[in-house]
Amino acid sequence: MKKFLFFLLLAGLTACKNSYYAYRTYDYPKPVDTKDKAIDYQEKKVFKAGEVFASNQFDAARLNDFKKVNDTLYEALILPENTPVNMSPWFAFRIWSEEPDTLYIRLKYEHAKHRYIPKYGKDKRHLKPIPHFTYNADSTAVVFPFVTERTPQYISAQEIISTTDIYQWIDSLKKNEFVLESKFIGESVLGRKIPYFRLGKKEANAKKVVVLMSRQHPPEISGFKALQYFVEELLKKDALTEDFFEEYEVWVFPVINPDGVDLGHWRHNAHGIDLNRDWAYYRQPEIKQITEFIRTEARQGKKKIILGIDFHSTQHDVYYVFDDNIKTIISRFRHDWTASIDRLVYPHKTEYAPFPLSQAISKNWFYSQFGAEAITYEMGDEVPYEIIQKKSTAAAVSMMDLLLDVFKNK
Ligand SMILES: [Zn+2]
Repeated sequence: MKKFLFFLLLAGLTACKNSYYAYRTYDYPKPVDTKDKAIDYQEKKVFKAGEVFASNQFDAARLNDFKKVNDTLYEALILPENTPVNMSPWFAFRIWSEEPDTLYIRLKYEHAKHRYIPKYGKDKRHLKPIPHFTYNADSTAVVFPFVTERTPQYISAQEIISTTDIYQWIDSLKKNEFVLESKFIGESVLGRKIPYFRLGKKEANAKKVVVLMSRQHPPEISGFKALQYFVEELLKKDALTEDFFEEYEVWVFPVINPDGVDLGHWRHNAHGIDLNRDWAYYRQPEIKQITEFIRTEARQGKKKIILGIDFHSTQHDVYYVFDDNIKTIISRFRHDWTASIDRLVYPHKTEYAPFPLSQAISKNWFYSQFGAEAITYEMGDEVPYEIIQKKSTAAAVSMMDLLLDVFKNK
């Protein structure tokens, strides 16, 4: 009998222990249907409009049509992958002419108002804003002057960072001793590989984990830059990172929506779904594989997910945090961390926006699945890179400091 009771107790404990890692689904107050929807693919081609050429033949391009309206005005049509979709008309194309020409370009959107200041340059990584660009907030089209040359120039909503560029960035980090592992953990709808890498100290075998992610929403480049600078700060070998990686690992998913990124989508994956609404029923393969990977990896390594940070972009800097009714394992972190970053980047301002659990977004999944703290870290679209870098450095250093402290007296 004693043996039987002991067995029951053991079974109970195992069940409790496993429930931390068990697959959980949730009914949020604002459910969103994340079943597959059809998308429209843009035709990849070189458009010829009089003496001017435009092309969308590269990853992350978006140009649905290009035509000559009159002697000096040319129109670039920019459409979303499907509708309804939020107001984030992403555009990216190359333009050139047989002879240099001064002309006007009209970006014409359907299903959206203007969002991104157009940028241009010969190299897709180093783009400058179109000078003196102005627009009306309600505009569904914007016009600006442009000088074409024989050499193609990019015109784009933001710096163009494709999935391949992200793979190359990860490759460039691999020689760092804090990069313990780098691999693909699955595939997108169209078979693009989903990359992952793990930071830590091999000999430490740390049991506490921070998860970072980005590019659920393809055009959100300033958020992706923030993740890059954040990771690069974590990889600097100094007393703080040495201490931090004794206790913590950091798991990074830099591109959750590789199809959306390379197809130049405004928002969705190749099944026409906003992936950041699918973190309750896991209907989309990208979210299903990432959540399964995190749970399995945590269970097998007996690790605890402490914090999730999901990097995004919007019109201005915002911390989307849990409201104070939501008690995570480190509830104070949201206040202390954001206050510390704000102190270090003063006078740059960030809105602090607490939210209840309402939708199936990644932030809520970290709490619902693991009781973990989580934050959606939104960077403003047009924040200069030096500010993004300064803020990410402050964010990484403050996070390490606070996380080293938070469990000390527990
Ligand atoms: Zn976003």
